[in-house]
Amino acid sequence: MLELRGVNVFYGAVQALREVSLRVDEGEIVTLIGANGAGKSTTLMAISGIVPPRRGEILFEGRPIHGLAPDRIVRLGICQVPEGRRIFPELTVAENLDMGAFLRRDRQGIERDREELYELFPILHQRRHQPGGNLSGGEQQMLAISRALMARPRLLDEPSMGLAPLITRQIFEIIKTINRERNTTVFLVEQNANLALQTADRGYVLENGRIVLQGQAEALLNNENVQKAYLGI
Ligand code: ATP
Repeated sequence: MLELRGVNVFYGAVQALREVSLRVDEGEIVTLIGANGAGKSTTLMAISGIVPPRRGEILFEGRPIHGLAPDRIVRLGICQVPEGRRIFPELTVAENLDMGAFLRRDRQGIERDREELYELFPILHQRRHQPGGNLSGGEQQMLAISRALMARPRLLDEPSMGLAPLITRQIFEIIKTINRERNTTVFLVEQNANLALQTADRGYVLENGRIVLQGQAEALLNNENVQKAYLGI
């Protein structure tokens, strides 16, 4: 579904990604793990068209998307979950969800999706008439994910949230459900390598802008180098 081929990204003279190649197949949850500054956010920004690669290709369903404007990329069905803090704080939870569906015209489908998300995140249902800004950090992240899902993306990019492990685990469980039940492909970028690898089917390890390791999530969890560098074992 998504493929990066030899992607190089620069910020001025600083090279953030070096020959990054990776693949996310339809229906998978794939994770990208790495230390602070490894280039995880840059990879997501390259996919969503915010920092275009200087060299290399990004393909979505076989079509090149590098060089397209971010809004074109969203319309193709790639949606990046914004950080929880980037919800609309003055709008209610329900209004925030409606904003996610602004490209859709299928009123009934929108209604159904809203109800489905309320079932997945009962706290959002409870708080549906409250301003988004009143939610806790974790709840705002749930709202951010739900708002992204209201667009019915084919591919959901989830950036590292920096939330407490307990809430991250809870959110990842729901991401698994969404992946399974809504057939949404997920590219999960996460600092908590342990939780990310427990959630994903496959993973890539990024170090100093390069992919240094890749494989099935379970194999990476059992890999000695990954355990030492990222799992604190
Ligand atoms: P973190 O987990 O800390 O968010 P990350 O893996 O997402 O890190 P990036 O934010 O992608 O890493 O950063 C990759 C590299 O690019 C780092 O060396 C960073 O300092 C550099 N970088 C990021 N943004 C910019 C920028 N706007 N200008 C210059 N250098 C940048």
